[in-house]
Amino acid sequence: MEFSGVEGESEKLKAIFLPFITPSHLVPVVDIARIFAMHGVDVTIITTPENAAVFQSSVDRDASRGSSIRTHHVKLPHVPGLPEGVETINLSTSRDTASILFETLTKTLQTQFPQLFHQFKPDFIVSDMFYSWSVDAAAEFGIPRLIYVGGTYFSHCAMDSLERFEPHTKVGSDDESPPIPAREIPETALTATPTIFSREQMNWVKEFRSRKKGATESFASKSFYAFERTYEELYREIMGTKSWNVGPIFSWVNRDASDKSSRGHGKEVEEGWLSWLDSKQKGSVVYVCFGSMKNNFSGTQIAEIAHGLEDCGHDFIWVVGKIDEGQSKALVEEFEKRVEASKKGFLIWGWAPQLRILEHPAVGGVVTHCGMNTVIETVDAGLPMVTWPLFAEQFFNERLLVDVLKVAVEVGAKEWKTWGDFGNEIVGREKIAKAIDLLMGGGEECEEVRRRVKALSEEAKKAIQIGGSSYNSLKDVIQQMKTLKLQKLNPKVEEPVA
Ligand code: UDP
Repeated sequence: MEFSGVEGESEKLKAIFLPFITPSHLVPVVDIARIFAMHGVDVTIITTPENAAVFQSSVDRDASRGSSIRTHHVKLPHVPGLPEGVETINLSTSRDTASILFETLTKTLQTQFPQLFHQFKPDFIVSDMFYSWSVDAAAEFGIPRLIYVGGTYFSHCAMDSLERFEPHTKVGSDDESPPIPAREIPETALTATPTIFSREQMNWVKEFRSRKKGATESFASKSFYAFERTYEELYREIMGTKSWNVGPIFSWVNRDASDKSSRGHGKEVEEGWLSWLDSKQKGSVVYVCFGSMKNNFSGTQIAEIAHGLEDCGHDFIWVVGKIDEGQSKALVEEFEKRVEASKKGFLIWGWAPQLRILEHPAVGGVVTHCGMNTVIETVDAGLPMVTWPLFAEQFFNERLLVDVLKVAVEVGAKEWKTWGDFGNEIVGREKIAKAIDLLMGGGEECEEVRRRVKALSEEAKKAIQIGGSSYNSLKDVIQQMKTLKLQKLNPKVEEPVA
């Protein structure tokens, strides 16, 4: 479905998409690319063969349904220190390898960009925020650059407050809660979790924000207006940039079971989970998943999670991913045998078909690390959450869910961790069981939470329908790209309206 008129091939708007190579950046950027293609833009996604394999089947399906979309592979050169075939950054990638991989990829894309530009003749590019080189590349060829930025608007506004006012420098220790002149960010967001002021996290905030350097143009976000309207507006005001909110992106393009099952994984996952869920009562199961990086936990913490789940009194699916011997693998295997026998729980050791699990009627709640993708997917499914933030901007997302939107209860995690680091904090089994029971137990507080998240879910569904906020945003960004193209061809065409 195109937004306006039928265009000849020569007038078709063309775009290049440059996704980053971690699952949680790759998956949404590819979804956004597919949405643009679905709405009449000619799209080429550029990445390495291993990353392309993760989404190629979806791209092929879209192409067979009429979208003008394809993948173009770039091959990474052999570089000392980069193992053959390693093209993705995930939890098993060492820091050194991740850094060599990042540099190699950046250099390869940057060097090949002029040739890619001449081959695909894009009218604009959509780049992951991590590719700051694409600012100059786009400018050199005189085309607009949109960037994809992870995280909620809320978290970006909170980070802005932190950077602007540096509250962590005004207290004696990382555990003190300083007073924050926080503009419209609720004070709790910046004070209720003292560790977010730790110097370590502040360094991360600075580094994260510097990645967006040069992002003067705009970005397409992935939440939706009703989810964080105040902060969307505040973000634009603070950053002084345009921003189009086009979510929930995943539900816009992943329509059928095979789309949903293979998303982020490349192939469909075997369906033992489905018959298990089919045997459960409506809303009785809690789904526990800590994102694409999975078990970022020590053996002690994994054991506490297992006990907490066993003690909570509710049925569960736990996506354990891959567990090493040192992480209590034997204990979890024993645990699996027990909960399978009692039919209380189901463990997924690899990649979970999360979108399909979330939409299953037996699922009644989610334990999440507050990764932005999972948060929006869960809200769209109308499910309340237990929040257990771990790293990156997840503590801010927790405050948005718990304090502002009131669609979640917190497990009580306090320690912000560096990516890939287990940290020192252990969240005990009692806290885990208590939070899950509060969410799933059917008390009045929990019913209120459920009502609120259901209302948000309805807003999410409306957002991507014709005339909805995200639909209109997408229409607007495509129109602006068209106007800029025409303006380039004919400088007398009027400036697009901001
Ligand atoms: N995901 C999935 N199966 C898994 C783990 C993750 O489908 O077993 C998907 C999930 O649906 C989401 C993304 O991977 O779209 C994870 O992104 P999120 O922002 O939640 O967390 P991150 O991976 O960045 O920590």
